[in-house]
This record gives sequence, C-alpha cells and structure tokens, in this order.
Amino acid sequence: MSDRGKIALITGANKGIGLETARQLGKLGVTILVGARDLKKGEEAAEVLRGAGVDAQAIKLDVVSEADRTAAAKLIEQQYGRLDILINNAGVMLDARGGDSGGWPVNQTSSTSEKVLHDTFETNFFAVIALTQTLLPLLRKSPAGRIVNLSSILASQTLQATPGSPIYDAKTFAYDASKAALNSFTIHLAHELRDTKIKVNSGHPGWVKTEMGGEGAPMELVDGAITSVQLATLPDDAPTGGFFHMGEALPW
Ligand code: NAP
Repeated sequence: MSDRGKIALITGANKGIGLETARQLGKLGVTILVGARDLKKGEEAAEVLRGAGVDAQAIKLDVVSEADRTAAAKLIEQQYGRLDILINNAGVMLDARGGDSGGWPVNQTSSTSEKVLHDTFETNFFAVIALTQTLLPLLRKSPAGRIVNLSSILASQTLQATPGSPIYDAKTFAYDASKAALNSFTIHLAHELRDTKIKVNSGHPGWVKTEMGGEGAPMELVDGAITSVQLATLPDDAPTGGFFHMGEALPW
C-alpha cells in the first residue's frame, strides 16, 4: 500500500521530533493529525505544516487525559473511520540532571522521588498504553496498521548493564525505566497482534537537538525523525515487536 492517503496520529507533534516526523510523513502524502496538549500550539504547528504542503489538522490531546484520548478517538472515527499510523511520540524526562564534566547526568537513582517516578511513568508508559488501547479498534480497520513507540537507547537493559557501552554512565533512572517498560509493551502487544496486519515497534531516534535532547546533542532534527518515519511506513513483510534505530536492531 502506498503511503499516500494514510491517516497518522502523532502525539506531542507540536515541536521537536514529533513535528519533524509530521513534516516528513506528511511529505509522503500522509494526512497528519497533530496531537498537542495545548491546542493553540498544535494549531500553530498544523499551520506551519500546511504551509509546507502537508495535509495537517491539530487535535487537542494531552495523553494523560482520558477525556482527551476518548475525544480524539471519536473525532478520528467520525472524520476518517480508521487510523493507519499511531506514533506514540510524546514523552518527558523529569529526572534531576545535575551535569558533570562529561556531560552525562549524575546518577541519582537512590534519591529519585516517588513523584518523579510516578509522573514519568504516567506520560511515558501508562498514557501510551491507554491511548493505544483506545485507538486499537480504529487501527484494526486499517489495511496496514503501524504503531511506533518512541523509546530510547537508554531503555536498553543490556547496554545499561554493560560497562563500556556508549550509555553505561547515562543513568536517568525514572526515564530509563519508563522506556524499558514501554519496550515491554511493544513486545507484548506485537505478540498479541502477530496474526493481524498491525505492526508494533519501538524506535530510538538518536540523541537529537530538541528541548529534551539539549543543544549539545549530536543529531539534527531532520535525522532524528528518520527512525519514526521508517517504522511508520514499514512494508507488510517487515518485522514487528522489535527495537530499532535507523533500521538497525538495538539490544533490549
Ligand atoms: P521535546 O522536544 O521535549 O518534545 C516532547 C513533546 O512531547 C512535546 O510536544 C510535548 O508537549 C509533548 N508532551 C509531553 N507530555 C505530554 C502530554 N502529557 N500530552 C501530550 N504531549 C506531551 O522532546 P523530543 O526530543 O522531541 O522527544 C520526542 C520523543 O523522543 C520522546 O518520547 C523522547 O523520550 C524520545 N527521545 C528523544 C531523544 C532526544 O535526544 N531528543 C532521545 C531518545 C528518545 P509540550 O510542548 O506541550 O511540552
């Protein structure tokens, strides 16, 4: 199936990797629903996208709000009757990040507060599951449904536990654990849906210059969206239940 005419919902698409993913997917002819918790910011982003020739519409979607999730599903059902692509892109990193000379956050696992853990998991894990479950009936109506969960290389238990790995000293506990839990959701949902036309994958965008990634990040936005776009447009014979960066598998 060509990507032209597909319908995609991208959460947290008002800025950063989400907005750039919207631009690149939109350029392929995909209709973009710009999820944003602040509708005004979503409308501004949709306006920019339309200016670039993308068919874009803003949707008010605070992913932690059940009312917003339900309203988004209703709107998509009424306007399109199906959803082809869901990109769970919205995310937060709330860990204290007292920098050291190497630029890595200081490991503060032993003092990570219950609030930071709770709030991080609420957005990065519980909301993703709730939104995906709400939208699954619409994704099942697609001839080739694709679910992309924006994870992080910091979620890799293998690399976190291996001295000398590129992320061994990057220990933001709440964030890393929430994305590891998200990866578990990817594996479990992909298994349940393995005999359907829906593919579910986790992606690591790279360390990208955004508000979250910071100015010191080595990757530009334009490259940071490539993994999400690839996973959103996978052909029917592509894998499901994997963890990828730029087409390469990452260790769980
Ligand atoms: P960003 O620039 O900070 O953007 C995050 C987006 O998520 C914003 O649109 C933000 O909305 C939205 N968001 C946060 N909480 C939300 C909520 N409750 N409901 C709806 N939207 C919400 O971050 P980014 O770098 O583009 O990150 C995008 C994804 O990539 C995240 O899942 C992140 O964990 C992942 N990632 C990023 C990097 C990196 O280096 N940048 C590396 C690995 C993984 P507001 O504008 O309203 O705050």
